[in-house]
Amino acid sequence: MDAILETKGLRKSYRLGKEDVPVLHGIDFRLGRGEYGAIMGPSGSGKSTLLNILGCLDRATGGQYLVEGRLVSAFSESELADLRARSIGFAFQSFQLLPRLTLSENVELPLQYLGIPRKERRRRVAEIMERLGLGQRGRHLPMEVSGGQRQRAAIARALVKKPALLLADEPTGNLDSTTTAEVLDLFRQLHEEGNTILLITHEHDVAVRAQRRWKIFDGLMEEMA
Ligand code: ADP
Ligand code: MG
Repeated sequence: MDAILETKGLRKSYRLGKEDVPVLHGIDFRLGRGEYGAIMGPSGSGKSTLLNILGCLDRATGGQYLVEGRLVSAFSESELADLRARSIGFAFQSFQLLPRLTLSENVELPLQYLGIPRKERRRRVAEIMERLGLGQRGRHLPMEVSGGQRQRAAIARALVKKPALLLADEPTGNLDSTTTAEVLDLFRQLHEEGNTILLITHEHDVAVRAQRRWKIFDGLMEEMA
């Protein structure tokens, strides 16, 4: 199948003082275009470490990482930044919206970074806000809306550039059960519309909603039945 992302023997260790502390010991993993995957694992098992590498926010210390067949592990910093800006949407557990900007302004930022003209930016922001049920909330600041609306705004910001891949780090980790259900319904719809989605979670109830599941354990990852 046409792989959006692929890792081969991916390794990561953190340097603590004089010691190298290995976290990922050689991850082999493929996600196809249009797939919806979930990676599970206990706290501290390296889920965020892996997702940050896949999202080009951090680098591996060994092995290979390919996005749409291109060897990203060999990219320069500016090539990485460019790939991240164009092709990868990232949603964080803590949303990471800028508190002084309205929801619409937050969602517009990635398009500004890409140099898209103002009129086109406004059109695309309005479209995605409407699509995610935030049509009436654009002028509000993050602190003026609910947690679910904040997470939807963060997902809108990740999706507004129409990325090849949507990555989400514990997207429901800070949400109550009703809002979690809402966000999971949104992911299901996005998957049905053809988006490629990879999320990490330590919650079984969240993982079962994805089409494929993997487990990280002892620095290795394997697919679950
Ligand atoms: P998870 O997301 O599964 O909870 P993390 O990827 O955040 O796990 O962390 C995996 C391990 O790597 C933990 O032992 C954590 O302490 C360590 N770690 C994560 N980030 C760093 C860092 N920047 N420097 C040193 N150690 C780190
Ligand atoms: Mg984590």
